[in-house]
Amino acid sequence: MNIGIFLQIDNAKILPVGLELIGKTLAMMGDIPHKIHGIVAMNNEDKGLLSDPEFKHVMSYLDETFVYEYQDKYLTTEHYQDAVCDYVRSQEPEILLVGATPLGRSFAPRVAAHLKTGITADCTEIGYDQTVGLEQIRPAYGEEILAEIVTPKTFPQMATVRPGVMDPPTEKGERNPKLTINEGNLSQKNLTIIARQVKRQPGKLDQAKLVVVAGNAIKEGEDLALVKQLAHVLGGEWGVTRPLVAGGLAPYSRQVGVSGTILSASVVLLLGVSGSNQTLTGIRKAKKIIAINDDPDATLFNKVDIGIVDDWKNIVTNILEKREGKLNG
Ligand SMILES: Cc1cc2nc3c(=O)[nH]c(=O)nc-3n(C[C@H](O)[C@H](O)[C@H](O)COP(=O)(O)OP(=O)(O)OC[C@H]3O[C@@H](n4cnc5c(N)ncnc54)[C@H](O)[C@@H]3O)c2cc1C
Repeated sequence: MNIGIFLQIDNAKILPVGLELIGKTLAMMGDIPHKIHGIVAMNNEDKGLLSDPEFKHVMSYLDETFVYEYQDKYLTTEHYQDAVCDYVRSQEPEILLVGATPLGRSFAPRVAAHLKTGITADCTEIGYDQTVGLEQIRPAYGEEILAEIVTPKTFPQMATVRPGVMDPPTEKGERNPKLTINEGNLSQKNLTIIARQVKRQPGKLDQAKLVVVAGNAIKEGEDLALVKQLAHVLGGEWGVTRPLVAGGLAPYSRQVGVSGTILSASVVLLLGVSGSNQTLTGIRKAKKIIAINDDPDATLFNKVDIGIVDDWKNIVTNILEKREGKLNG
């Protein structure tokens, strides 16, 4: 059985979600015979990637990598669709996995439509069953349930998977990788990119080492200002749960969780958060999770490293006052 994994390149590097998908595939397939293929689409200028040690590291977990090289300087969703469809036609994989990055989200459904197969977008978990194949798991019906979706009749079985949710392989890659280079040939183009300007947001939430997350207990802008101040004092970033975005208190770019940002922070401080699965999915990689909640029976306390029963504002103002006292004294 062939399993294809799309490896996205950004700034001449493979995005980490590629390795996360490989790690998950290795874990879910276990002893079931399979071959893992990497699929890469790039332009001629990205050629240096092939000798990059990080690329070789990723390759060591793969049985074969199919590289599609295009002449065009900038690739569009049409190039990615073309490359992946060509790969599917030649290798007939049973499963095809793509990271749910903005790029993956834009071209993977087009590939599925073109191949007349199913796709589940934004999976937070995947599994493999010998009878039905790929189990595609994602929150559904108002996030109250985790839906297990299977598409046993059409192939490849496709899923896009949220970056940061799966773990990369823990063991050393020992496969003997084969590299197949194809000349990409996109004869019909609807879109040509002439120039591209990348705008990166400063202090990105997903890269912060420490994040203070404000929950629904925070209802006012001036309370949120305290949270921001605390994050600043601690040298970290601030995020919020979804109700604060829905209520217009914070922008979506600050939402932590399954439909927001997945954090890679080592320390996360939750203030007035109940700990829904949607929030926790966004912070599962943290080494230390500290929660302040005034409800002693909050189930969240079973899921965190340190739980403090108190009013969040008491503690935060206390820390800020002490800190101010130190600075003034
Ligand atoms: C499609 C969909 C996608 C979603 N995606 C996300 C997502 O990405 N991220 C996300 O976070 N949510 C998401 N949600 C929402 C999620 O289901 C929960 O509703 C949300 O996480 C709850 O946020 P909360 O814990 O801040 O609020 P609540 O559940 O209201 O919890 C507030 C907590 O604060 C405590 N509290 C109250 N006052 C104080 C005080 N003074 N001091 C201390 N503690 C206090 C309470 O005891 C309570 O535990 C999504 C929902 C849907 C439908």
